[in-house]
Amino acid sequence: MAEETIFSKIIRREIPSDIVYQDDMVTAFRDIAPQAPTHILIIPNILLPTVNDVKPEHEQVLGHMIITAAKIAEQEGIAENGYRLVVNCNRHGGQEVYHIHMHLLGGKVLGPMLSH
Ligand code: AMP
Repeated sequence: MAEETIFSKIIRREIPSDIVYQDDMVTAFRDIAPQAPTHILIIPNILLPTVNDVKPEHEQVLGHMIITAAKIAEQEGIAENGYRLVVNCNRHGGQEVYHIHMHLLGGKVLGPMLSH
């Protein structure tokens, strides 16, 4: 069994967070340390620690995460100019919280994808 993270508490609304969208499959909330004018995390309500844990049965929820990201980008007014979706995996990917999450970043020109 994977260990719960703080994100499970956010899903269950046990700790304060700025939730912008929630349904039976996903939860989306503003990142506590924003890296761009819009920085929202989209997470599955089920606990999947990393991309390495993804199985074929998770296709629907993962697809729903992208659909949700696109809807939120529209709501945030950043869809037309564009934005970046990022999913970090494990140490080399820079993952800090072991509950899969998609970063939705936008609201400015984001620059090159990787800093060296
Ligand atoms: P990652 O490095 O991809 O694992 O990203 C984890 C993200 O979670 C970071 O951008 C953090 O700022 C964010 N984060 C951590 N704790 C919270 C929290 N309680 N509420 C909102 N965002 C958080």
